This record gives sequence, C-alpha cells and structure tokens, in this order.
Amino acid sequence: MQQTLSVDVVIIGAGIAGLWLHHRLKQLGFQSLLLEKNAIGQGQTLSSQGIIHGGAKYALNGILSKATQAIGDMPARWQACLQGEGDIDLTAATMLAPHQLMWSTDKLSSKMVSFFASKALASRMQAITPDNSTALFHHPDFNGTLYQLDEPVLDIPSVLHCLAEPYQDSILQIPTEHEMSWKTIDKGVQAIQFGDELTLTAQHFVLTAGEGNETLLAELGISQPQMQRRPLQMVLCRSKKPNQPLPALYAHSLGAGSKPIATITSHYDKTGNVVWYIGGNIAEQGVGKSASQLQQEAEKLLADIMPWVDLPSLEWAVHAVDRAEPKQSALTRPDTAFVESVDNVHIAWPTKLALAPDLADKTLHALQQASLQQHDLDNTPLPTCLQPAPFAPALWDRVF
Ligand SMILES: Cc1cc2nc3c(=O)[nH]c(=O)nc-3n(C[C@H](O)[C@H](O)[C@H](O)COP(=O)(O)OP(=O)(O)OC[C@H]3O[C@@H](n4cnc5c(N)ncnc54)[C@H](O)[C@@H]3O)c2cc1C
Repeated sequence: MQQTLSVDVVIIGAGIAGLWLHHRLKQLGFQSLLLEKNAIGQGQTLSSQGIIHGGAKYALNGILSKATQAIGDMPARWQACLQGEGDIDLTAATMLAPHQLMWSTDKLSSKMVSFFASKALASRMQAITPDNSTALFHHPDFNGTLYQLDEPVLDIPSVLHCLAEPYQDSILQIPTEHEMSWKTIDKGVQAIQFGDELTLTAQHFVLTAGEGNETLLAELGISQPQMQRRPLQMVLCRSKKPNQPLPALYAHSLGAGSKPIATITSHYDKTGNVVWYIGGNIAEQGVGKSASQLQQEAEKLLADIMPWVDLPSLEWAVHAVDRAEPKQSALTRPDTAFVESVDNVHIAWPTKLALAPDLADKTLHALQQASLQQHDLDNTPLPTCLQPAPFAPALWDRVF
C-alpha cells in the first residue's frame, strides 16, 4: 500500500557532510532524514587521511591564501568537540595524533624558511629538535629540519560512529528494490518517490552525496552549480610481520616545491597492524599508473625521504579515488566549504573533511533564510523498505 511520510529536511548522502548536518538538525529539534545509497562513510570520507587541517599545508609557498584563513579555525573547533565542548559530542572518537610533523632532509628553500619564520602561523607551528619528536627522527643520521604542526589526526571510523549512532534510526539505506524518483513542482522539489511503496515529502532537500551529487543534479535538471573531480591514487603499506609493525607516523615530507612530496598518516587494521597511508604529490602524480609501478615509486620515495630508517618487509596496496568539489576554473582546489541553493534544493560539498562544521553552519544558515519550520514528530512507523544504513568498513580492512 502507498505510504506518505513527511519530514522537515531530507539529506542525501551519509559522508561527513551529511552526517554532521543531520546531527545538528536533530539536535535543534528538526525532523531530518538522512538517506544513503551504499553504507555510512563509504565515499571520500573513509578514504580520507583524517587530518584536521589548519591550513599550513596550503601556505608552503609562503603565501597565506584565502584557503588558509578559512580553514584556520577548524582544528580548534574540532578540538572543542573532542573535549565535549563543541557543537557535537566527539568525546568517544579516537585521536590518532594531537600533532603532525613536517620534515625536510635538505635545507628548505629560502621562501619557505621565511614563511616558517613568519608570524603568520607561529601559533600553530613550531620548529622542534629530533629528541623532542618521535623515535623515528631521533637518529644520528637525521640532520634535516623538523617542524610540529598543531593539527590533529583523527580515526575517521570512530568519528562516524559518534555522529551517526545517536540518530541511527533516521539514517536509512535507499532501498534497491524500489526505483527512486523526484516529484518536482514549479519551484523545487515536493517529494521523493520510492516505486509504489513510499512518497517522502519535505520542506527542503540537501544534496551531500559527494560525487553522487553530479547524477542527482542531472536527474533534477539543475545545471548550476557544476561539479569537478580531482583524482588521486593513494598508496598503502604495512609490515608483513605484524610483530614488527611500522612505527606510527603523522608527517609531511617537504621538498623544494609548494606541496608536500608525501603525507604519511598511520592507521590500525582490524588485527592492530599499523598501515601507512601515503598521499601528497605521489598520489597526485600516481593517477593512472599501474599498482606495481606506483608501489616501486613509493618504495624508492620512502628510501629517499627517510634514508636513515630500516623499514620491515612491506605489503602494498593502492587506492584510486576522486575528490568531488564545486567546479573551479582550471581545476584548482576550492577554498572553502560550498553550499548553493536552487529553490528548496541545497547542493553542498565541504571540499575538506575538516570543513564539515563550517559546511553545516552554512547550510543551516541557508535553511533558516528559506524559513525552515519545525513540525511535530510524525509518528507514522517507517515502511519496512527503509532500514538503517550500515557502517562501511575502514579502508585498511578493504584494500589489502
Ligand atoms: C584520498 C583522500 C584523502 C583526503 N584526506 C583528507 C584529510 O586528511 N583531511 C580533510 O580535511 N579532507 C580530506 N579529504 C577530503 C575529504 O575526504 C572530503 O572533502 C570529504 O570526505 C567529503 O565528504 P562528503 O560527505 O561531501 O562526501 P563523501 O564522503 O563522498 O560522501 C558522500 C556519500 O553519499 C553517498 N551517495 C552517493 N550518491 C548517492 C545517492 N544518489 N543517494 C544517496 N547517497 C549517495 C555515498 O555513498 C557516500 O556515502 C581527502 C579526500 C581524499 C579523496
């Protein structure tokens, strides 16, 4: 029998953006439903390195750009959540590292030295000596430069649990057995239809489906905003002997350019073995390369950037993934979280996981501007075709 369900807001896509917004809307008393096609976190979110950027990485050319300033508040905002004093209670999330390191085996270029010496980021970045660092750099053969960044690295699966668990009964998997279609009206969307089973109406619809936004926009006939993909091929490795694991490392290796040569974060697979997840230039330039070629390049790179380290015998994997963002001229990286409203459809890309709180603020503002109203709870039981969405497994447990 056809059933109709009415809520205040329907959000589509349960990555960091949809989950953060859904949590905030529920806290504020709105009837929000979050719909996920696959599993919670399965898109870019569980491919991320979990770095809560404060912008230092984007200022290596010595210039404090708009991106650096927009993202600068994010570490403090997340720290407040981790301490139970922010918008969302993340006290049960795991912080993998409170800081990251930046190191260079050579003398840094003069431009970068003046940047490091500048006051601009002085409160967030300090030069340190190897003996104040991890054991990895505390070695007589390391005689490069070392900086510490006050930007934490989080275990993203644990963050997703904190965001989703309090409201899991309203985070639902889109049923595959009923075709999903849009009921549009003169100005915007009235409902989503699931076959003959269910009509889901809402005042507003928010698209946080990452790269899935492109198809949703096409289905809705919305031509602006447009989306861009920026591809990466990330590299992962772990010790073949779990009793001799890789050391936990959270660090950017710097060369002469304005981007880190490699950014290494460390994660724990389900057996507790340490996995190095490697991004940065190697992942940007690794797009389209075969797994074996990229693995060879990564082995050589590790030998070049940490020649004093004796690594255990390693097992390798690669992970190709696209970053989905609002379209920019010349495929550049957007500076800030992005929300654009077309009637009652709000299209959102955080552009960085770290910017999810900012994206939620902007979307809430857009919804308030559009006079979102609170309605009494609709106690109609959910149709059986809508079941809670499962959590996706961590990347380290999928790729080897
Ligand atoms: C390799 C990599 C490393 C990164 N590292 C960092 C980092 O360290 N720090 C940082 O700040 N940022 C990082 N980022 C960026 C960050 O991961 C993304 O900006 C962020 O996760 C995007 O979140 P999202 O919720 O918009 O999209 P996604 O995480 O992609 O979520 C979209 C969700 O929508 C679902 N979906 C798709 N289509 C539909 C549909 N039709 N209906 C319903 N659901 C749908 C998907 O299954 C998915 O669950 C990284 C990105 C990549 C690719």
